[in-house]
Amino acid sequence: MEFYADVASLQSAMADHRRAGRSIGFCPTMGALHQGHLSLIEASRKENDITICSIYVNPTQFNDPEDLQKYPRELDRDRDMLAEAGCDGLFFPSDEMMYPKPAVMAMQFGPLENVMEGVHRAGHFNGVGLVVAKLLHLVGPTRAYFGQKDLQQFAVIRQMVEDLMFPVDLVCVPIVRESDGLAMSSRNARLSPVARKTAAQLYAFLQEAREQLLQGRSVMSVGQWVRAQLGEHRDINLEYFEIVHSHTLQSISKMNSSEPTSLCIAAWVGGVRLIDNLTV
Ligand code: AMP
Repeated sequence: MEFYADVASLQSAMADHRRAGRSIGFCPTMGALHQGHLSLIEASRKENDITICSIYVNPTQFNDPEDLQKYPRELDRDRDMLAEAGCDGLFFPSDEMMYPKPAVMAMQFGPLENVMEGVHRAGHFNGVGLVVAKLLHLVGPTRAYFGQKDLQQFAVIRQMVEDLMFPVDLVCVPIVRESDGLAMSSRNARLSPVARKTAAQLYAFLQEAREQLLQGRSVMSVGQWVRAQLGEHRDINLEYFEIVHSHTLQSISKMNSSEPTSLCIAAWVGGVRLIDNLTV
């Protein structure tokens, strides 16, 4: 595996690959890798000649300084995992490299960010848009891989790529879960053993809600049921539960079998903020 610690070496290697006619798959991450990240690498390897991963904990997408400071950083372990997974190159820039000067421009995604994560994490998607735009310019991939775990992030990036005509195909990779259903996340490592058990209930609620919708219960009553159950929960502090169109992310009032629907949840468990979603 090649290591690119600076922009110039990355760009020159990517230009060589493109000149040689090789397709490049790109998987941007913030590190502390787990099987969810590796599923992006695996998907990319199947579809491209070269697979590049980036590890960069992007400060502009954190609205909570404590979350940024506590974000796990395990570069040595990550490198070994990527090499083992057959990744061809790793880009791990510094803050100085990605932001030689603070960005002046800002990105807004209108209705796509006036809901869910955008409401609870002010400025988050501006940071995501900025860093993904920079990374796509630097790598120039044929395809870029993102997880369905961050459904709203995928919708925002799809909009940016469409509006700004980035010449890249986006691929959304299904959520990889622990055996009890908890969506894999770098933040899970911060859960105490008790909180870790509680956290699995989020997925159980999503599954139960999906089941109720499929049995014909109304969107409104399923929403109310989940919010009431979790509102009373001793160990889960619910931020939101929404039943939305999977692409526009707007709340729906009625199920429509020809439109993709997602159940989205964010909650605090044992001092850790977790998100998850399930497609109906
Ligand atoms: P992160 O390092 O959390 O920024 O995640 C990097 C990429 O991996 C994002 O596109 C995430 O959506 C994706 N990802 C994170 N967790 C999972 C998971 N459990 N399953 C699939 N993809 C994931």
